[in-house]
Amino acid sequence: MTNNFTDSEYFRGMSVAKEMFSRKRLLPLLLIIVLIIVYYARKPKPLVELHGKTFGTIAYNIKYKDKAQRDFQPSIDSILNVFNDAVSHYRPNSEISRFNRDSTVEFELPYLYPVLSKSAEVYKTSHGAFNPAVMPLVNAWGFGPDKSMNPDSTLIDSLMEFTRFDLVQFDSTHAWKTDKRVELDFSAVAKGQGVDLVMNFLESKGIKDVFVEIGGEVNARGTNAYGKPWVVGILDPASDVLKQSYIATVSLDDEAVATSANNFNYVIRDGVKYTHTIDPATGYPAHNPILSASVFSKDCMTADAYATAFMVMGHEKARAIVESHPELEAFLIYSTPDGNTATYASNGLKDKLELFQNGN
Ligand code: ADP
Ligand code: MG
Repeated sequence: MTNNFTDSEYFRGMSVAKEMFSRKRLLPLLLIIVLIIVYYARKPKPLVELHGKTFGTIAYNIKYKDKAQRDFQPSIDSILNVFNDAVSHYRPNSEISRFNRDSTVEFELPYLYPVLSKSAEVYKTSHGAFNPAVMPLVNAWGFGPDKSMNPDSTLIDSLMEFTRFDLVQFDSTHAWKTDKRVELDFSAVAKGQGVDLVMNFLESKGIKDVFVEIGGEVNARGTNAYGKPWVVGILDPASDVLKQSYIATVSLDDEAVATSANNFNYVIRDGVKYTHTIDPATGYPAHNPILSASVFSKDCMTADAYATAFMVMGHEKARAIVESHPELEAFLIYSTPDGNTATYASNGLKDKLELFQNGN
Protein backbone atom coordinates (compact mmCIF):
# COMPACT_ATOMS: atom_id res chain seq x y z
CA MET A 1 0.00 0.00 0.00
CA THR A 2 1.33 3.40 -0.87
CA ASN A 3 -1.02 5.61 1.12
CA ASN A 4 -0.21 7.29 4.40
CA PHE A 5 -2.87 5.54 6.50
CA THR A 6 -1.97 2.99 9.16
CA ASP A 7 -4.00 -0.19 8.83
CA SER A 8 -6.23 0.67 11.78
CA GLU A 9 -6.88 4.20 10.40
CA TYR A 10 -7.65 2.66 7.06
CA PHE A 11 -10.20 0.24 8.48
CA ARG A 12 -11.71 2.95 10.69
CA GLY A 13 -12.07 5.15 7.57
CA MET A 14 -13.72 2.31 5.74
CA SER A 15 -16.24 1.73 8.45
CA VAL A 16 -17.07 5.48 8.61
CA ALA A 17 -17.59 5.44 4.84
CA LYS A 18 -19.72 2.31 5.13
CA GLU A 19 -21.73 3.98 7.86
CA MET A 20 -22.14 7.14 5.77
CA PHE A 21 -23.23 5.25 2.68
CA SER A 22 -25.29 2.59 4.41
CA ARG A 23 -28.55 1.91 2.66
CA LYS A 24 -30.44 3.68 5.43
CA ARG A 25 -28.57 6.93 4.80
CA LEU A 26 -28.14 6.57 1.05
CA LEU A 27 -31.82 6.40 0.24
CA PRO A 28 -32.77 9.77 1.73
CA LEU A 29 -29.67 11.29 0.12
CA LEU A 30 -30.63 9.94 -3.30
CA LEU A 31 -34.15 11.17 -2.80
CA ILE A 32 -32.89 14.69 -2.05
CA ILE A 33 -30.68 14.64 -5.18
CA VAL A 34 -33.59 13.44 -7.31
CA LEU A 35 -35.84 16.14 -5.85
CA ILE A 36 -33.24 18.82 -6.60
CA ILE A 37 -32.87 17.59 -10.19
CA VAL A 38 -36.66 17.48 -10.66
CA TYR A 39 -36.99 20.96 -9.14
CA TYR A 40 -34.41 22.45 -11.51
CA ALA A 41 -35.74 20.54 -14.52
CA ARG A 42 -39.29 21.80 -13.88
CA LYS A 43 -38.33 25.30 -12.87
CA PRO A 44 -39.30 27.60 -15.78
CA LYS A 45 -36.25 28.75 -17.72
CA PRO A 46 -36.24 32.54 -17.94
CA LEU A 47 -37.33 33.74 -21.37
CA VAL A 48 -36.32 36.88 -23.17
CA GLU A 49 -39.57 38.55 -24.21
CA LEU A 50 -39.74 41.28 -26.84
CA HIS A 51 -42.82 43.29 -27.77
CA GLY A 52 -43.04 45.90 -30.48
CA LYS A 53 -44.78 47.02 -33.66
CA THR A 54 -44.16 46.60 -37.36
CA PHE A 55 -46.08 47.24 -40.63
CA GLY A 56 -47.36 50.43 -39.00
CA THR A 57 -49.50 49.24 -36.11
CA ILE A 58 -49.20 45.46 -36.12
CA ALA A 59 -47.93 44.09 -32.82
CA TYR A 60 -45.20 41.50 -32.54
CA ASN A 61 -44.45 39.24 -29.63
CA ILE A 62 -41.22 37.23 -29.49
CA LYS A 63 -39.96 34.87 -26.77
CA TYR A 64 -36.80 32.83 -26.61
CA LYS A 65 -34.46 31.05 -24.26
CA ASP A 66 -30.94 32.37 -24.15
CA LYS A 67 -28.49 31.71 -21.30
CA ALA A 68 -26.85 35.09 -21.87
CA GLN A 69 -30.30 36.79 -22.04
CA ARG A 70 -29.19 38.70 -25.13
CA ASP A 71 -31.52 41.49 -26.28
CA PHE A 72 -31.96 41.20 -30.05
CA GLN A 73 -34.74 43.78 -30.30
CA PRO A 74 -32.69 46.51 -32.04
CA SER A 75 -31.54 44.01 -34.70
CA ILE A 76 -35.06 42.61 -35.14
CA ASP A 77 -36.56 46.09 -35.50
CA SER A 78 -33.98 46.96 -38.09
CA ILE A 79 -34.57 43.72 -40.06
CA LEU A 80 -38.33 44.34 -40.07
CA ASN A 81 -37.82 47.95 -41.06
CA VAL A 82 -35.67 47.02 -44.05
CA PHE A 83 -38.16 44.27 -44.91
CA ASN A 84 -40.92 46.92 -45.01
CA ASP A 85 -38.78 48.89 -47.47
CA ALA A 86 -39.21 45.97 -49.86
CA VAL A 87 -42.78 44.72 -49.41
CA SER A 88 -44.91 47.48 -47.88
CA HIS A 89 -47.11 49.26 -50.41
CA TYR A 90 -47.82 51.80 -47.67
CA ARG A 91 -44.26 53.12 -48.14
CA PRO A 92 -44.13 55.22 -51.31
CA ASN A 93 -40.52 54.33 -52.09
CA SER A 94 -40.59 50.66 -51.18
CA GLU A 95 -39.59 48.22 -53.92
CA ILE A 96 -43.19 47.06 -54.27
CA SER A 97 -44.47 50.65 -54.58
CA ARG A 98 -41.85 51.34 -57.24
CA PHE A 99 -42.99 48.24 -59.10
CA ASN A 100 -46.63 49.32 -58.85
CA ARG A 101 -45.77 52.81 -60.15
CA ASP A 102 -42.96 52.22 -62.62
CA SER A 103 -43.87 48.80 -64.09
CA THR A 104 -40.48 47.36 -63.24
CA VAL A 105 -38.15 47.09 -60.27
CA GLU A 106 -34.67 45.77 -59.72
CA PHE A 107 -34.27 43.99 -56.39
CA GLU A 108 -31.80 45.63 -54.03
CA LEU A 109 -33.15 43.73 -51.02
CA PRO A 110 -33.46 39.94 -50.72
CA TYR A 111 -37.20 39.86 -49.95
CA LEU A 112 -39.29 40.39 -53.08
CA TYR A 113 -37.92 37.42 -54.97
CA PRO A 114 -38.92 34.82 -52.30
CA VAL A 115 -42.40 36.31 -51.86
CA LEU A 116 -42.97 36.49 -55.63
CA SER A 117 -41.85 32.86 -55.98
CA LYS A 118 -44.12 31.70 -53.14
CA SER A 119 -47.01 33.74 -54.56
CA ALA A 120 -46.59 32.15 -57.98
CA GLU A 121 -46.66 28.70 -56.35
CA VAL A 122 -49.78 29.30 -54.23
CA TYR A 123 -51.53 31.21 -57.05
CA LYS A 124 -51.16 28.07 -59.14
CA THR A 125 -52.11 25.51 -56.47
CA SER A 126 -55.12 27.55 -55.34
CA HIS A 127 -56.27 28.15 -58.94
CA GLY A 128 -55.94 31.89 -58.49
CA ALA A 129 -57.76 32.15 -55.12
CA PHE A 130 -54.54 33.55 -53.66
CA ASN A 131 -53.67 36.46 -55.90
CA PRO A 132 -51.50 39.41 -54.77
CA ALA A 133 -52.51 41.29 -57.97
CA VAL A 134 -55.85 41.87 -56.25
CA MET A 135 -54.66 45.31 -55.05
CA PRO A 136 -56.94 47.47 -57.27
CA LEU A 137 -59.96 45.50 -56.03
CA VAL A 138 -58.76 45.73 -52.42
CA ASN A 139 -58.60 49.51 -52.84
CA ALA A 140 -61.97 49.67 -54.57
CA TRP A 141 -63.55 47.85 -51.65
CA GLY A 142 -61.93 50.23 -49.18
CA PHE A 143 -59.41 47.86 -47.57
CA GLY A 144 -56.23 49.41 -48.96
CA PRO A 145 -54.43 52.72 -48.62
CA ASP A 146 -56.82 54.44 -51.08
CA LYS A 147 -60.19 55.80 -50.07
CA SER A 148 -63.07 53.47 -50.89
CA MET A 149 -64.64 54.00 -54.29
CA ASN A 150 -67.85 52.16 -53.34
CA PRO A 151 -67.57 50.06 -56.49
CA ASP A 152 -70.39 49.16 -58.84
CA SER A 153 -70.32 46.06 -61.04
CA THR A 154 -69.01 47.98 -64.09
CA LEU A 155 -65.97 49.17 -62.13
CA ILE A 156 -65.38 45.68 -60.71
CA ASP A 157 -65.51 44.16 -64.21
CA SER A 158 -63.03 46.70 -65.56
CA LEU A 159 -60.61 46.14 -62.65
CA MET A 160 -60.82 42.38 -63.04
CA GLU A 161 -59.28 42.59 -66.52
CA PHE A 162 -55.90 43.14 -64.92
CA THR A 163 -56.16 41.59 -61.44
CA ARG A 164 -54.12 38.70 -62.77
CA PHE A 165 -50.87 37.56 -61.19
CA ASP A 166 -49.83 35.97 -64.49
CA LEU A 167 -49.35 39.52 -65.83
CA VAL A 168 -46.38 39.78 -63.44
CA GLN A 169 -43.03 38.43 -64.61
CA PHE A 170 -39.90 38.10 -62.51
CA ASP A 171 -36.52 36.47 -62.18
CA SER A 172 -34.11 36.50 -59.25
CA THR A 173 -32.92 40.04 -60.01
CA HIS A 174 -36.01 42.00 -61.03
CA ALA A 175 -39.76 42.02 -61.71
CA TRP A 176 -41.72 43.61 -64.52
CA LYS A 177 -45.33 43.63 -65.72
CA THR A 178 -46.92 42.93 -69.04
CA ASP A 179 -49.86 45.26 -68.26
CA LYS A 180 -48.91 48.48 -66.55
CA ARG A 181 -52.21 48.68 -64.65
CA VAL A 182 -51.27 45.63 -62.50
CA GLU A 183 -50.53 46.42 -58.86
CA LEU A 184 -49.35 44.04 -56.16
CA ASP A 185 -50.38 43.81 -52.52
CA PHE A 186 -48.49 41.40 -50.25
CA SER A 187 -50.59 42.06 -47.13
CA ALA A 188 -51.77 38.44 -47.14
CA VAL A 189 -48.23 37.00 -46.82
CA ALA A 190 -46.01 39.75 -45.45
CA LYS A 191 -46.67 38.98 -41.79
CA GLY A 192 -45.79 35.32 -42.37
CA GLN A 193 -42.64 36.22 -44.28
CA GLY A 194 -41.66 38.67 -41.52
CA VAL A 195 -42.12 35.94 -38.88
CA ASP A 196 -39.79 33.65 -40.84
CA LEU A 197 -37.16 36.38 -41.18
CA VAL A 198 -37.10 36.92 -37.42
CA MET A 199 -37.01 33.16 -36.79
CA ASN A 200 -34.08 32.69 -39.20
CA PHE A 201 -32.21 35.57 -37.63
CA LEU A 202 -32.63 34.19 -34.08
CA GLU A 203 -31.64 30.70 -35.20
CA SER A 204 -28.51 32.18 -36.79
CA LYS A 205 -27.66 33.49 -33.30
CA GLY A 206 -27.82 29.97 -31.87
CA ILE A 207 -31.29 30.30 -30.32
CA LYS A 208 -33.09 26.94 -30.34
CA ASP A 209 -36.22 27.51 -28.26
CA VAL A 210 -38.16 30.37 -29.76
CA PHE A 211 -41.67 31.63 -30.43
CA VAL A 212 -42.20 34.43 -32.96
CA GLU A 213 -45.60 36.03 -33.52
CA ILE A 214 -46.49 38.98 -35.76
CA GLY A 215 -50.16 39.99 -35.85
CA GLY A 216 -51.34 36.47 -35.01
CA GLU A 217 -49.05 34.59 -37.42
CA VAL A 218 -46.63 32.31 -35.58
CA ASN A 219 -43.51 30.22 -36.04
CA ALA A 220 -42.10 28.21 -33.11
CA ARG A 221 -39.07 26.00 -32.53
CA GLY A 222 -38.09 23.88 -29.56
CA THR A 223 -39.92 24.24 -26.27
CA ASN A 224 -41.37 26.87 -23.94
CA ALA A 225 -40.15 27.92 -20.48
CA TYR A 226 -41.45 24.66 -18.97
CA GLY A 227 -39.75 22.46 -21.57
CA LYS A 228 -43.13 21.74 -23.20
CA PRO A 229 -44.20 22.44 -26.80
CA TRP A 230 -45.32 25.99 -27.53
CA VAL A 231 -49.11 26.25 -27.69
CA VAL A 232 -51.30 28.59 -29.74
CA GLY A 233 -54.97 29.36 -29.23
CA ILE A 234 -57.38 29.50 -32.17
CA LEU A 235 -59.91 32.29 -31.78
CA ASP A 236 -63.58 31.46 -31.78
CA PRO A 237 -64.98 33.13 -34.93
CA ALA A 238 -67.70 34.65 -32.75
CA SER A 239 -64.99 36.79 -31.11
CA ASP A 240 -64.77 40.49 -31.74
CA VAL A 241 -62.10 43.02 -30.84
CA LEU A 242 -63.49 43.52 -27.33
CA LYS A 243 -64.55 39.99 -26.48
CA GLN A 244 -62.17 37.26 -27.55
CA SER A 245 -62.34 33.58 -26.69
CA TYR A 246 -60.62 30.45 -27.93
CA ILE A 247 -62.29 27.54 -29.65
CA ALA A 248 -59.18 25.32 -29.58
CA THR A 249 -55.49 25.13 -28.74
CA VAL A 250 -52.80 23.45 -30.82
CA SER A 251 -49.29 22.53 -29.68
CA LEU A 252 -46.60 23.31 -32.21
CA ASP A 253 -43.97 20.83 -33.26
CA ASP A 254 -41.24 23.03 -34.79
CA GLU A 255 -43.75 24.55 -37.18
CA ALA A 256 -45.59 27.70 -38.21
CA VAL A 257 -49.28 28.57 -38.13
CA ALA A 258 -51.20 31.41 -39.77
CA THR A 259 -54.87 32.17 -39.35
CA SER A 260 -57.20 34.14 -41.60
CA ALA A 261 -60.66 34.94 -40.36
CA ASN A 262 -63.21 37.60 -40.98
CA ASN A 263 -64.01 38.60 -37.40
CA PHE A 264 -61.99 41.81 -37.30
CA ASN A 265 -61.38 43.18 -40.75
CA TYR A 266 -64.57 43.98 -42.63
CA VAL A 267 -66.81 46.85 -43.66
CA ILE A 268 -70.58 47.01 -43.37
CA ARG A 269 -72.39 48.65 -46.29
CA ASP A 270 -76.17 48.87 -46.42
CA GLY A 271 -76.30 46.28 -43.65
CA VAL A 272 -74.11 43.78 -45.56
CA LYS A 273 -70.80 42.62 -44.08
CA TYR A 274 -67.94 42.62 -46.60
CA THR A 275 -64.72 40.91 -45.57
CA HIS A 276 -61.25 42.07 -46.58
CA THR A 277 -60.53 38.85 -48.45
CA ILE A 278 -61.43 39.34 -52.11
CA ASP A 279 -62.41 36.48 -54.36
CA PRO A 280 -60.39 37.20 -57.52
CA ALA A 281 -62.82 35.05 -59.53
CA THR A 282 -65.78 37.36 -58.82
CA GLY A 283 -64.11 40.64 -57.86
CA TYR A 284 -66.28 40.71 -54.72
CA PRO A 285 -65.36 40.01 -51.10
CA ALA A 286 -65.27 36.24 -50.55
CA HIS A 287 -68.66 34.98 -49.55
CA ASN A 288 -68.88 31.38 -48.36
CA PRO A 289 -69.53 29.43 -45.14
CA ILE A 290 -65.88 29.41 -44.00
CA LEU A 291 -65.32 31.50 -40.88
CA SER A 292 -61.67 30.85 -40.08
CA ALA A 293 -58.72 29.01 -41.63
CA SER A 294 -55.59 28.12 -39.65
CA VAL A 295 -52.85 26.60 -41.74
CA PHE A 296 -49.79 24.77 -40.36
CA SER A 297 -46.59 24.46 -42.34
CA LYS A 298 -42.83 24.46 -41.77
CA ASP A 299 -42.58 28.13 -42.73
CA CYS A 300 -45.01 30.91 -41.94
CA MET A 301 -45.05 32.57 -45.38
CA THR A 302 -46.55 29.38 -46.89
CA ALA A 303 -49.06 29.03 -44.05
CA ASP A 304 -50.09 32.68 -44.40
CA ALA A 305 -50.64 32.48 -48.17
CA TYR A 306 -52.76 29.32 -47.88
CA ALA A 307 -54.80 30.71 -44.98
CA THR A 308 -55.92 33.56 -47.25
CA ALA A 309 -56.46 31.19 -50.20
CA PHE A 310 -58.66 28.94 -48.03
CA MET A 311 -60.86 31.85 -46.96
CA VAL A 312 -61.50 32.50 -50.65
CA MET A 313 -61.98 28.84 -51.64
CA GLY A 314 -64.18 27.71 -48.76
CA HIS A 315 -63.73 24.67 -46.54
CA GLU A 316 -64.44 21.91 -49.07
CA LYS A 317 -61.87 22.94 -51.67
CA ALA A 318 -59.44 23.88 -48.89
CA ARG A 319 -59.76 20.42 -47.43
CA ALA A 320 -59.01 18.83 -50.81
CA ILE A 321 -55.79 20.87 -51.07
CA VAL A 322 -54.68 20.01 -47.52
CA GLU A 323 -55.30 16.32 -48.03
CA SER A 324 -53.21 16.25 -51.20
CA HIS A 325 -50.35 18.32 -49.72
CA PRO A 326 -48.53 16.44 -46.93
CA GLU A 327 -46.56 19.58 -46.04
CA LEU A 328 -49.78 21.37 -44.99
CA GLU A 329 -52.17 20.82 -42.09
CA ALA A 330 -55.28 22.86 -41.41
CA PHE A 331 -57.95 23.62 -38.86
CA LEU A 332 -61.04 25.11 -40.49
CA ILE A 333 -64.17 26.53 -38.91
CA TYR A 334 -67.30 26.98 -41.02
CA SER A 335 -71.00 27.45 -40.62
CA THR A 336 -73.44 24.71 -41.59
CA PRO A 337 -76.75 25.24 -43.43
CA ASP A 338 -78.67 24.83 -40.13
CA GLY A 339 -76.81 27.82 -38.73
CA ASN A 340 -74.41 25.89 -36.48
CA THR A 341 -70.64 25.98 -36.47
CA ALA A 342 -68.58 22.96 -37.55
CA THR A 343 -64.83 22.32 -37.61
CA TYR A 344 -62.39 20.30 -39.68
CA ALA A 345 -58.93 19.25 -38.46
CA SER A 346 -56.55 17.50 -40.84
CA ASN A 347 -55.08 14.17 -39.72
CA GLY A 348 -51.68 15.50 -38.70
CA LEU A 349 -53.31 17.78 -36.10
CA LYS A 350 -55.33 15.11 -34.30
CA ASP A 351 -52.82 14.53 -31.46
CA LYS A 352 -51.93 18.19 -31.06
CA LEU A 353 -55.35 19.78 -31.08
CA GLU A 354 -57.53 20.37 -28.07
CA LEU A 355 -61.02 21.46 -29.01
CA PHE A 356 -63.21 23.25 -26.47
CA GLN A 357 -66.91 22.45 -26.66
CA ASN A 358 -68.22 25.90 -25.91
CA GLY A 359 -65.26 28.11 -26.56
CA ASN A 360 -62.93 29.10 -23.73
P1 ADP B 1 -55.07 38.99 -42.07
O1 ADP B 1 -54.31 40.21 -42.45
O2 ADP B 1 -56.32 39.24 -41.30
O3 ADP B 1 -54.23 37.88 -41.50
P2 ADP B 1 -54.92 37.85 -44.67
O4 ADP B 1 -53.59 37.25 -44.39
O5 ADP B 1 -55.95 36.92 -45.22
O6 ADP B 1 -55.61 38.44 -43.42
O7 ADP B 1 -54.70 39.06 -45.66
C1 ADP B 1 -55.76 39.82 -46.13
C2 ADP B 1 -55.25 40.96 -46.99
O8 ADP B 1 -54.68 40.40 -48.18
C3 ADP B 1 -56.32 41.92 -47.46
O9 ADP B 1 -56.46 43.00 -46.59
C4 ADP B 1 -55.80 42.33 -48.84
O10 ADP B 1 -54.88 43.38 -48.70
C5 ADP B 1 -55.10 41.11 -49.34
N1 ADP B 1 -55.98 40.19 -50.10
C6 ADP B 1 -57.32 40.19 -50.17
N2 ADP B 1 -57.78 39.19 -50.95
C7 ADP B 1 -56.67 38.53 -51.39
C8 ADP B 1 -56.48 37.40 -52.25
N3 ADP B 1 -57.49 36.74 -52.78
N4 ADP B 1 -55.21 37.02 -52.48
C9 ADP B 1 -54.14 37.68 -51.95
N5 ADP B 1 -54.27 38.75 -51.15
C10 ADP B 1 -55.52 39.17 -50.86
MG1 MG C 1 -52.71 35.43 -45.05
